[in-house]
Amino acid sequence: MNPLQEETFYQQFSNQRVPKPTYQRRTYLCYQLKPHEGSVIAKVCLQNQEKRHAEICFIDDIKSRQLDPSQKFEITCYVTWSPCPTCAKKLIAFVNDHPHISLRLFASRLYFHWRQKYKRELRHLQESEISLAVMSYLEFKDCWEKFVDHKGRPFQPWNKLKQYSESIGRRLQRISVEVGLLSKREIGIFPQKKKNEYKERPFYSTAPRKKCI
Ligand SMILES: [Zn+2]
Repeated sequence: MNPLQEETFYQQFSNQRVPKPTYQRRTYLCYQLKPHEGSVIAKVCLQNQEKRHAEICFIDDIKSRQLDPSQKFEITCYVTWSPCPTCAKKLIAFVNDHPHISLRLFASRLYFHWRQKYKRELRHLQESEISLAVMSYLEFKDCWEKFVDHKGRPFQPWNKLKQYSESIGRRLQRISVEVGLLSKREIGIFPQKKKNEYKERPFYSTAPRKKCI
């Protein structure tokens, strides 16, 4: 594989605001492929190409492997930015066409999460078979260990990594809740009890639901 340089990882995957002097944050996608029961087949780092986003390169890369459809496979993806609407649609179509592949997608940051079109596709991703989540310390560390040419050096978390991750995670959750996608139980706010127990209790009492698109 083509491991990331340490500086590239810290600059591109960091979930902080860009420090000065500023630099451009690009889309990097690192994925690990393995059979459901078995050892890792591939670890690959991709980035946006001209007119070809990293997610599309990823889909093409997996397709070219012609994975045995009678076997189950697991892919874990770490991306610097959540997918744009076009890539989100293509990823959903890809997992629908390849039900033997289970895809987990962890994003460091949410791309244009305030724009309706982007929010809508984030919701669709959540509704799909793809597991979408925001990277936390564990995923950053795992990404570092698997995909960075760290020469044995340990991952050094940056200032406020946890706070930024939680804040971005709450944003993703709110986008999901707006459409009523996540059940209260899935969010894990309330303990798992009887199904209709929450009917009388308003959920996000401090955050009024916005109208669905
Ligand atoms: Zn894209």
